[in-house]
Amino acid sequence: MSEKRYLFTPGPTPVPPQVLAAMSQPMVHHRGPDFRIVYERCLARLKEVYRTDNEVLLYASSGTGTMESAVANLCSPGDRVCVVTAGAFGERWAAIVESYGCEVDRLAYEWGEAPFAEDLASRLAERESGVVLLTHSETSTGVVADVRALTAAAKENGAISVVDAVSSLGAVPLETDEWGVDVVVSGSQKALMSPPGLALVSVSQAAWDAQGTLPRFYFDWERTRKAQQIFDAAFTPAVSLVIGLDVALGLLLEGGLDAAFERHVRLGRACREGIKAMGLELFSPDEDSAAVVTAVRAPDGIDSGELLLLLRDRHGVTLAPGQGALKGKIFRIGHIGYFDVFDIATALAAVELALTELGADIERGVAVTRALEAFEQPVAA
Ligand code: PMP
Repeated sequence: MSEKRYLFTPGPTPVPPQVLAAMSQPMVHHRGPDFRIVYERCLARLKEVYRTDNEVLLYASSGTGTMESAVANLCSPGDRVCVVTAGAFGERWAAIVESYGCEVDRLAYEWGEAPFAEDLASRLAERESGVVLLTHSETSTGVVADVRALTAAAKENGAISVVDAVSSLGAVPLETDEWGVDVVVSGSQKALMSPPGLALVSVSQAAWDAQGTLPRFYFDWERTRKAQQIFDAAFTPAVSLVIGLDVALGLLLEGGLDAAFERHVRLGRACREGIKAMGLELFSPDEDSAAVVTAVRAPDGIDSGELLLLLRDRHGVTLAPGQGALKGKIFRIGHIGYFDVFDIATALAAVELALTELGADIERGVAVTRALEAFEQPVAA
């Protein structure tokens, strides 16, 4: 067993040492001035990262918590909700809606496909839904959807747009206000370079006006909004995680969001070029938009689960498996957040070695060089 561990999954992601150090400070009380300053700054930074003037509500939960909050706050029993699904996280939206006794109107694509705004517009014209649930970066397939166009289609048809940006916020452009996205949910453990445990949701005025009657308590948006307006959390916040997130957001904003988006494009390119150089086939699109996670088909005769176990247990390298029907067939390399090209190089080198150990017929000794070259190419403005 290798002693050194490498985490190359699309969440949780590596956490910068400054963030870890900030979280190891002695505990402070959440209703005193020490925390209040951090809370206020963290909430302001979140708005900057979201590119919104809307309130961004902060919860102690995983990202699924604020996904659930969107359904609980926007819907009423029996409502029809349009769910655009092309992977595991679109399916999660559908499962949440069903568990609240609402009707799911699925606009379903094959896993790996990208949804089309035109399809959404015609579906909504044919069958009305008050709320449309979208996935920005479908982490299970590596596809990043055009949520700008999808949101516009929802709006034109009078629906509230809700976007799952759990793996995209801070990695790829998401202009909450400019694109008119009503609700954006996200989580701390991906491009926001923080540990898991915090979930976020921004709420537009139209979404506040559209609240439904489903039961909710902890996730009642109004309760958290009132508390956040006076920087006095509704419940005991995850103090250390908020302190860490504040530092992480500071790092992200200091470097600049646009620079972060560009770096993610180049990381995606580097990963794809390296994979192709090895002779492997991509599952995720070979496009700059696929800047969050690269999904790769396992070579013929090799189970991707077996590959991942070897990588983890012999080499200390953790990648992500395929989900659902893609289990055993693909593996995924995350490149979001605190990530640079040498992480890509390490991941590629490890995949190359492990595949060789499994007897796969791959091209050796070229992937890392191709990745480094691809990373150097500038991104057109
Ligand atoms: N949506 C997407 C796109 C995700 O990638 C994830 C996490 N992998 C989730 C939702 C769920 O987030 P969590 O595990 O934090 O509940």
